[in-house]
Amino acid sequence: MLPLVALVGRPNVGKSTLFNALTRSRDALVHDQPGVTRDRHYGVCRLDPERPFLLVDTGGIAGEEEGLAGATARQARAAAAEADLILFVVDGRDGASALDDEILAWLRKLARPTLLVINKIDGTFEEAVRAEFARYGFADMLAVSAAHRQGLDDLHAEVLERL
Ligand code: GDP
Ligand code: MG
Repeated sequence: MLPLVALVGRPNVGKSTLFNALTRSRDALVHDQPGVTRDRHYGVCRLDPERPFLLVDTGGIAGEEEGLAGATARQARAAAAEADLILFVVDGRDGASALDDEILAWLRKLARPTLLVINKIDGTFEEAVRAEFARYGFADMLAVSAAHRQGLDDLHAEVLERL
């Protein structure tokens, strides 16, 4: 069985874009509309053909408890809970938001191995963005641009080190 890596984060941070970049597929739905990814999406990352892993793109993890949003949130939490490694994706352009803080609190309780991935680093001052997220207390922060395929090799290497 392949190791499982889960992409977790609030809507619109670029989880699906990162999923596509790592799996090189168009399976994941990418859209400007926040929360458009409703299902779990699984794909295999084969950037190192010797060490493939399964990647799951979760939808909004912090949703209302009722209806579709609630079901999506429950599915996303279930995917994260069974993952060998979680990639907590945040938006370097927006900075840390209340919703990011909520997800962080939930991830701390879950206590799974987790890497902080700061996406959309393109066009930002990386040091300032890193400083903003330093309070989240992750030993390692990976700064990437999924859309521009920046930092993906480093991210991939970090993931493999932890699987
Ligand atoms: P998700 O809701 O977390 O799955 O986010 P999406 O992957 O659907 O991306 C949301 C929006 O952010 C889309 O308009 C993407 O094109 C854009 N986006 C994703 N990654 C990047 C990036 O690295 N840089 C920039 N500037 N935009 C990005
Ligand atoms: Mg998505």
